[in-house]
Amino acid sequence: MRVLVDLALCEGNGRCEATAPELFIVGDDDKSQVTNESPPDNLREKALLAAKLCPRQAIKVVE
Ligand code: SF4
Repeated sequence: MRVLVDLALCEGNGRCEATAPELFIVGDDDKSQVTNESPPDNLREKALLAAKLCPRQAIKVVE
């Protein structure tokens, strides 16, 4: 699994960080950074939930 953020879409509202702090952090530039682009399988559900809840659909989870 790989987790990606499209920075052109991200508006920095931080919902991803609130949902999955193990995976995302919003920087001073108001853009989400993926802190672990290849997370372990036990974080899959959180990654998918963050992608679902992102209001900009900026998060992609690729198998
Ligand atoms: S939830 Fe989406 S738009 Fe908001 S900071 Fe995260 S990636 Fe960016």
